[in-house]
Amino acid sequence: MQAATKRKWIDDVVREEENEPYIEDDRDFIDDGKIKSLIDKHANPEIGEIRDIIAKSLSLERLEPQETAALLNIRDEDLWQEVFEAAAWVKNDVYGPRIVTFAPLYCSNLCANSCVYCGFRAENQAAQRRKLSFPEIRRETEVLVSIGHKRLVVVYGEHPDSGIDYIAGSIRTIYDTKVGRGEIRRVNINAAPQSVENYRLLKDIGIGTYQVFQETYHHETYRKVHPRGIKANYAWRLYALHRAQEAGVDDVAIGALFGLYDWRFEVLGLLYHTIDLEQRFGGVGPHTISFPRITPATDTPFNQNIPNRVGDEDFLRLVAVIRLSVPYTGMIITAREPAHIRRQAIDLGCTQTDGSTRIGIGAYAESYEHQEVERQQFLLGDPRSLDEVVREMAEMGYLTSFCTAGYRCGRTGNYFMELAKQGKVHRFCIPNAILTMKEYLQDYASAETRAIGEKLIERHLAGVPRQIRDALDSRLMRIENGERDLRF
Ligand code: SAM
Ligand code: SF4
Repeated sequence: MQAATKRKWIDDVVREEENEPYIEDDRDFIDDGKIKSLIDKHANPEIGEIRDIIAKSLSLERLEPQETAALLNIRDEDLWQEVFEAAAWVKNDVYGPRIVTFAPLYCSNLCANSCVYCGFRAENQAAQRRKLSFPEIRRETEVLVSIGHKRLVVVYGEHPDSGIDYIAGSIRTIYDTKVGRGEIRRVNINAAPQSVENYRLLKDIGIGTYQVFQETYHHETYRKVHPRGIKANYAWRLYALHRAQEAGVDDVAIGALFGLYDWRFEVLGLLYHTIDLEQRFGGVGPHTISFPRITPATDTPFNQNIPNRVGDEDFLRLVAVIRLSVPYTGMIITAREPAHIRRQAIDLGCTQTDGSTRIGIGAYAESYEHQEVERQQFLLGDPRSLDEVVREMAEMGYLTSFCTAGYRCGRTGNYFMELAKQGKVHRFCIPNAILTMKEYLQDYASAETRAIGEKLIERHLAGVPRQIRDALDSRLMRIENGERDLRF
């Protein structure tokens, strides 16, 4: 792209004035010095202090930054075990034995940004560029529906040729696609930050969650790893979800890319982000938090020598600390991670995961048997099929939920947060997990998965309160008789 064209595009997209209501004294809410000093100040937390903090999480209260900083500094192995047990307890108490599933759908890898860790960055000549047409998106969707998916997260690079009109058109196409009794019922988005006006358009289309990951909250590191393009603008990204909330998109999701800077700093960055959203939007913080680790990408030397690589042990610690810090927020673990890490992270607090994941552009319809790194943003650690993931989750005791009732029944934003904060999401979520898993088992599962899944449903039905058990049994019968999309 010509420099002048690019400049004009950037000027058209970025509306600095929309951030102004949120910036106080010319500063954003991430104070690097303060975060560092919190980490240093709590370098040697007392056992008693840690136990008090854990007790606060167990009462489902969000932690304050100094409390999270203390957890991040635990040195004692036995104390870490207490943190892990508490995290697992909180997860089960708030969300119950269920895991929500989805698939990513990469629509376009055209990108004018220069994120040093990403295979799609503009300078990467090895990446095969492609923007799916709407008929191609329909074909991708048909494959995903025929695997059994009901929830997608659509993903795009940032480029003038895949701007808001393309994003809106692709989502309409997905919602329009039906295969037999199947359809996608919730489309979440992971795409570049938008203006308030654009978010309003997406709200009208009926999107689920809008995700924007800050990647790193550390200002100086952010500048280094995003040297050019719109993404070089830290504040435009940091306030992306404030603008989304202002436009009425009340399910928003944050994330950090682990490996760019100190993991302890990033966990506190995520917490400050949560707190700022909660304070400004009537208690509604992020619907989910993501914490991807950098994985290899084609012709991307940065990833061969990751400056702040997070080992498995620290990764599981950060999962547990996030769980305790924001007990009522969903947490997403993706197929970037190998299966054994996913399993542990799910026990420790994650509430959503993907299955049958393909991240090459057009990869579902063209059914790549193998990962093709030139077509992908990065390499996956766990490309297993949805059927295998559902089976494994069932063996671990988890219902796989395809539920999309929440946003279609208005249980988003504040309404959802209030339920979560009181530990009441399972009132709706477990029955809906049972109903949607039943649909999946009837329509898409292998015989082996169906047998294990049906037994699991029987087991969980026993724990469903009497008041709704009859209604649930009757809906299950209707599903067996061919009705679909039943929910509470
Ligand atoms: N282009 C949009 C953006 O940057 O916001 C969409 C995001 S990208 C397709 C989704 C996320 O993948 C990024 O926000 C980043 O956190 C993550 N990501 C990028 N490169 C990665 C890599 N090499 N390994 C793991 N995750 C990566
Ligand atoms: Fe483009 Fe997003 Fe990759 Fe950055 S992370 S290069 S913005 S696709």
